[in-house]
Amino acid sequence: MITIALSKGRIFEETAPLLAAAGIHAAEDPEASRKLIIETNRPDVRLIIVRATDVPTYVQYGAADLGIAGKDVLDEHGGDGLYQPIDLQIAKCKMMVAVREDFDYFGSIRSGARLKVVTKYVKTAREHFAAKGMHVDLIKLYGSMELGPLVGLADVIVDLVSTGGTLRANKLKAVEEVGDISSRLVVNQASLKLNRDKLQPIMDAFQTAIAKNK
Ligand code: ATP
Ligand code: MG
Repeated sequence: MITIALSKGRIFEETAPLLAAAGIHAAEDPEASRKLIIETNRPDVRLIIVRATDVPTYVQYGAADLGIAGKDVLDEHGGDGLYQPIDLQIAKCKMMVAVREDFDYFGSIRSGARLKVVTKYVKTAREHFAAKGMHVDLIKLYGSMELGPLVGLADVIVDLVSTGGTLRANKLKAVEEVGDISSRLVVNQASLKLNRDKLQPIMDAFQTAIAKNK
């Protein structure tokens, strides 16, 4: 049995066409079903539906053979025990630094101010500011980072941005790019050795489908 770990929402929606290219079709819509294990048309392939941030953990420990996770999530996880062979080019966005519209980010940096940062991505943020030689205080949040600078919790947020609509709606502006984000296929390394005959055709079908979309 091959187990593929996915999250609901954007990742499932954008992965479904890639799975279809590999001849894998979910028997149920995870959005409508409460089931956490979803059968497919293939008796030897099943999907498990987990939180986006938990996908690397399931694959790392071999509870799933394959998984699909954002680079944001993988960078925070660290990637131990995971092979990351394919950039699936889905769920694309950017990791950005953003501040209040009236905040002078570059002026504060020049004056050597110690900035307070709220983010869900503590490791990514720490590495970004360390590479710039900036000293910052990091505060971990689990959502709605945009609120932080509006109520004085922080000067800066580090978060994913796609259209910028949420930033604008909250009178924030993006001031710096941390990096490009897209989702990656992750593979359990031991499972790949053991099940290459089943996993390689799935990986090949994904590669071909991505190349066609370009
Ligand atoms: P939840 O929203 O349930 O708290 P989550 O934010 O971890 O969980 P999603 O919003 O489905 O889950 O995001 C899953 C992945 O999709 C993220 O890890 C990221 O890689 C990508 N992503 C997040 N927001 C966007 C966006 N606005 N545009 C494109 N891709 C995004
Ligand atoms: Mg989300």
